[in-house]
Amino acid sequence: MTISTSEYQYSNSAGKLSQLAEIMAELDNLKKQSERLNLANKLHARMAGVLSLTGMIEAYSVWLMPLVNHELIGYNNSRRKKRHLFCSGHGPQRRSAIAFAEQLFDEKSLALGSFSKKDGRYAYKWTFETASDEGIFLILREGRELSEDNVSLVNYSLEILAECLRRGLEYEDLFEKASNDALTGLSNRRVFEERIHAMMDGAKRYHHPLSMISMDLDKFKAINDNLGHQVGDNVLVTVAGVLKRAVRSTDLLVRMGGDEFLIVLDQTDKKSARILAERLCLAIDSLEIWADDATKLGISIGLSEMKKTETLQQWMERTDDILYHAKAEGRARVSES
Ligand code: GH3
Ligand code: MG
Repeated sequence: MTISTSEYQYSNSAGKLSQLAEIMAELDNLKKQSERLNLANKLHARMAGVLSLTGMIEAYSVWLMPLVNHELIGYNNSRRKKRHLFCSGHGPQRRSAIAFAEQLFDEKSLALGSFSKKDGRYAYKWTFETASDEGIFLILREGRELSEDNVSLVNYSLEILAECLRRGLEYEDLFEKASNDALTGLSNRRVFEERIHAMMDGAKRYHHPLSMISMDLDKFKAINDNLGHQVGDNVLVTVAGVLKRAVRSTDLLVRMGGDEFLIVLDQTDKKSARILAERLCLAIDSLEIWADDATKLGISIGLSEMKKTETLQQWMERTDDILYHAKAEGRARVSES
């Protein structure tokens, strides 16, 4: 077969064109990859200094917003009982977006990769699953579905987010272990030392009263000796539960060690603190815990209001003297200066 010159030229230039198209496609691909890397770097930079899960969800939402407009980002890890939502809206719109997200987390009806729609709002769900953990990630947006490009970007960036969330979960675990007493779950002395100075400074600056209730169980050793250490542990957990239910979220309740507990009551004078202290004394008495026929568990309480001129050490020593007085006077009572 002979090929005429014009046919040859045509097939030759068609070949060059398809080669050029391949090169262009390759360039386009590289450009997309470089854009993705650039975006990934920005996401890494945003996440770098963030330790809390709430902060991570917020940082991810801020990074994603210009790329994929959305109303809410949510993360739920039912195994570890963590749920974090970040919503850009306000007022009733915000409340209804949060209610929708909560419902989706709870009912788990939304299949992976699918979306659910309610009142013009689209919800997308991803799951993170590893051998030791699971998590659900939600994006809610109003009006329009996510495009394929959007979904692919989210898929890509979620690998980065998942890694950060793992770091955040580890950090929170460590932080909780370091802050909570392992037996009772109450805050420990370390938390007391961290928070007490700010509470004292605030009270002094704004002229608020600040009171301290220092407690030590009575005859607790007899419980250990007669009923065993395990029963002793259970008693400590029961007492911690009574105390926990009695305080407000602004109060600082700690197990200082052994059978010693302490409550610092924000914006509370000695008179109001006394009402709570008496109530706690009665509550422990009505637990009806007996080490033997003649030895009932009670609690002795020393109560004091901070003086503006005293240091933490002076205040604690003064309160300890008052507690000693309650013990010396016969136990199971409240003493104050
Ligand atoms: P008092 O009425 O004078 O306060 O005497 P007490 O018998 O309550 O004994 P005290 O307060 O002097 O000592 C507390 C005891 O609590 C000492 C220790 O053996 C015991 N204890 C400390 N920590 C734990 C714990 O985590 N579990 C148990 N079961 N016992 C503990
Ligand atoms: Mg004691």
